[in-house]
Amino acid sequence: MRYERQLIIPQIGQEGQKKLEKSTVTVIGTGGLGSPVLTYLTSAGVGTIRIFDDDVVSVSNLNRQFLHNTGDVGKLKTLSAKEKLSQLNPSVHLMVINDRLNSDNAEDYIAGSDVVVDCVDNLATRMNVARACLKLNIPLVEGGVYGFSGYVMDIGRECACLSCLGYDEVIPKTPIPVLGVTAGVIGCMQANECIKLLLGIGEPFYGRMLSYDGLRGTWDEISVEKSDSCPVHGTYKKGRI
Ligand SMILES: [Zn+2]
Repeated sequence: MRYERQLIIPQIGQEGQKKLEKSTVTVIGTGGLGSPVLTYLTSAGVGTIRIFDDDVVSVSNLNRQFLHNTGDVGKLKTLSAKEKLSQLNPSVHLMVINDRLNSDNAEDYIAGSDVVVDCVDNLATRMNVARACLKLNIPLVEGGVYGFSGYVMDIGRECACLSCLGYDEVIPKTPIPVLGVTAGVIGCMQANECIKLLLGIGEPFYGRMLSYDGLRGTWDEISVEKSDSCPVHGTYKKGRI
């Protein structure tokens, strides 16, 4: 009954639903992007979801991080998220990890995932996640927001990552300006990409970045190519990670 409206989608059906139920997804971050990603993966019936965060809820999170309520301020974000998600769908196995991914632990934490979804707000973690995913050959769904704008792309061994595009040299302003609804739009797209990758359906965003402008109300598709000088792809090729 819970899934009847998605079971009647031809690209999903009983077989697709079983695939989702056997899947393991790692979601890094339970904030503005993580809230919609975790909510929709949980409601879709992904079997196991690993929830990563090392932060506690603060009142300034609440304009965009809808998994957390005013009463959760001061709580670990992972536990606050798990409380809501387990009520939404008790059949999903939710694992919480209160830690920050770094270059030493990323591979161990990510190993065994069918897809990783990056929902963090800092480049250092994004690079560590990308390196580990390339090393382990696990598809990575990237997303980011800035003000009214955002992007989504999928990353794999044979296509561009953020470092290929020079993002690792960008020093963003902090705090990053974010409208809650923009994080919601991009997080929903990330969840959609994750489900496509788990089911092997549709056209993943490999080699193309989808760029969203909420003020113009437009999506632009940008072709992106792997760079021979990429430090993330380069370290994977040389076996140094
Ligand atoms: Zn790269």
